[in-house]
Amino acid sequence: CSSGFIANPRARKLICPDCKNVTCAQCRTSVSIIVNLMLGVTWEAAHEGISCVAFARWKADNDAEVAAQGVAKHLAECGITCPKCKFTYSLAKGGCMHFTCTQCKFEFCSGCGQPFRQGKKCTVGPYCERLGLHAHHPRNCLFYLRDKEPQQLQNLLKEAGVSFDTEPQGGSSEHQGSGTRALCQVQEQKELPDGLKDDICGRVVPNGYAGLCRLHYTEYLVEKINTHRLDPVGIFDEADLRVCLRRNGKTVPIRRWESEKLYKDKLIKLIKEHLPLEALE
Ligand SMILES: [Zn+2]
Ligand SMILES: [Zn+2]
Ligand SMILES: [Zn+2]
Ligand SMILES: [Zn+2]
Ligand SMILES: [Zn+2]
Ligand SMILES: [Zn+2]
Repeated sequence: CSSGFIANPRARKLICPDCKNVTCAQCRTSVSIIVNLMLGVTWEAAHEGISCVAFARWKADNDAEVAAQGVAKHLAECGITCPKCKFTYSLAKGGCMHFTCTQCKFEFCSGCGQPFRQGKKCTVGPYCERLGLHAHHPRNCLFYLRDKEPQQLQNLLKEAGVSFDTEPQGGSSEHQGSGTRALCQVQEQKELPDGLKDDICGRVVPNGYAGLCRLHYTEYLVEKINTHRLDPVGIFDEADLRVCLRRNGKTVPIRRWESEKLYKDKLIKLIKEHLPLEALE
């Protein structure tokens, strides 16, 4: 980073105004603020109380951990932007797709940005009234894809020749850490009894999921699918296809003589014909 530094006279801390990296004024060791967030360790906790030598050792010990956070970091960097006030959050989308903007209180889907509305207040289709709080997600929204097997999503990417990670970026899985089971370090918004809070995911990390929990690995794969504009309709089951048509105000044809396979193909054809795949922002 070449933006120069603003020195905080009270501390040994230099903060870059552009990339927000924190550098020690004495030893010039820097720690990315995003990595700090991911590790749940603040710069203060890492260096304020200890010498520069001890800090260097701490940083070396944690660099493998930092590498393992590569994918997690990427997810947070893609972030969530409020479609109404454009405020951006460095958070992953997480399991609950219902996101409330803390700035303007707008409620929207973190996967596609569509507004969440109560059934009676939504006028998209006659079917809406019977629904509770809902949004009209396009079919490439994480809403439809979060329950799919990661393997199904991987196959979709493979067929299109798109590469994806299965191991943490640059990190070795043999890292001699504290010996504790790896927990997902992705930042997300959690709904707690006392309100909304940004916190680390903390779910267990299975092997082959690039250092992420199943949920956030799915989110990573879906993001790849969307940046390459792949149509996920091929991995939808019959229920997904019905919801997709109904939520978009289309009538679902009744299955008559067709086999299950033919009926599914018919629904897929309808979706492809009437609902063009739109790029997600
Ligand atoms: Zn230092
Ligand atoms: Zn907002
Ligand atoms: Zn919620
Ligand atoms: Zn509706
Ligand atoms: Zn959505
Ligand atoms: Zn996670």
